[in-house]
Amino acid sequence: MASKEMYAWGAKASVIRDLFTYGQEQAAKIGAENVFDFSIGNPTVPAPACIKEAIEEIINTREAVAVHGYTAAAGDTAVRQGLADYMNAAYDADVNPENFYMTCGAAASLTITLKALVESADDEIIVIAPYFPEYTAFIENASADKVVVPPDLEHFQIPFADLEKAITPHTRAVIINSPNNPSGVVYSEETYKKLSTLLKEKSAAVGHAIYLIADEPYREIIYDGLPILYVPKYYENTIICYSYSKSLSLPGERIGYILVPPTAADSKEVYTAVCGAGRIMGFVCAPHLFQDVVLKCLGKTSDISVYDENRKLIYTGLKELGYNCVYPSGAFYLFVKSPEPDAAAFSNKAKALNLLIVPADSFGCPGYVRVSYCVNPEMIKRSLPAFAKLIEQYKQPL
Ligand code: PLP
Repeated sequence: MASKEMYAWGAKASVIRDLFTYGQEQAAKIGAENVFDFSIGNPTVPAPACIKEAIEEIINTREAVAVHGYTAAAGDTAVRQGLADYMNAAYDADVNPENFYMTCGAAASLTITLKALVESADDEIIVIAPYFPEYTAFIENASADKVVVPPDLEHFQIPFADLEKAITPHTRAVIINSPNNPSGVVYSEETYKKLSTLLKEKSAAVGHAIYLIADEPYREIIYDGLPILYVPKYYENTIICYSYSKSLSLPGERIGYILVPPTAADSKEVYTAVCGAGRIMGFVCAPHLFQDVVLKCLGKTSDISVYDENRKLIYTGLKELGYNCVYPSGAFYLFVKSPEPDAAAFSNKAKALNLLIVPADSFGCPGYVRVSYCVNPEMIKRSLPAFAKLIEQYKQPL
């Protein structure tokens, strides 16, 4: 006997994982150089040198017991102090160590934050399409209802009229993700200002604070000199869910944090609930060694210029072939309109050419595919003839 609900989650196939596994099998059969796998968002730029240096320094100079022992549940005090100092210097954030809760990456940051905020089974969490599919699982874990705002297919910013309609007295929080997976879009300052005005008005109307959960694993992966905006400056009831998985290429190490700024409504209560949620879900503490490692690497990132080069290659390459692509300003995904309404059928045609691209239906955006370009640049170049053959199938004969 097992929980039917959990069994269903465990048995549910993931389109991304399935494509990735298929790619590995194909590579064994026809050679890795003939498979163009754009399915998964695993960083391909190595972690910066400071990571290895920090690990070596820590393990060579500290007692093993001190290196590997538990930390406080919220994280090591020196680490949280370092983070507060860094955020204050870099973003003029005005935050304190006791506003930070160290986590096992963004997935944990989000699950804990949602669990901490949701009060009753009537609570609603709004997500804006296209959105990271795992939000569905995280929201269900908190026993809340997911409310989807349809995508703004013109700019992929926030469709405000639809967001306004989606807010009800049950709305507890809105999750945003910029730079966005899968659209690659970065929210503009104007978007944050409008969002703040709307959420303030609606919070007053419903009689409680509507929290904004800023899911920011791609915060520093941003191009064209765009500024990194500190969201609580625009809307004070923002909780930041951060991760080092992408910015420092550490997805397997599981390290990130939750920031509940002092300006957020009921900041202390929310923070205490975050501690409670982490506890009840058995997180105990974030990996100690990597708390110390990220402290030594504050402000550093992997070499983002490599992703930028890939971005230019794939965006220009596909545009020249006639694909309709969303201009990517951040993260490492290109969002492409399927030339037929059924993106799964399009993805299958691509698969027949050994091009692995993900239909975006599970991201709440049917009719689009996600091309993950955290790959070897040579693979992008080699894949272009296959992309050309693919679009040819949709061109009418003269
Ligand atoms: N949020 C978004 C938008 C993501 O793309 C991902 C991972 O791809 C996550 C959260 C989870 O990241 P982590 O590996 O830090 O748990």
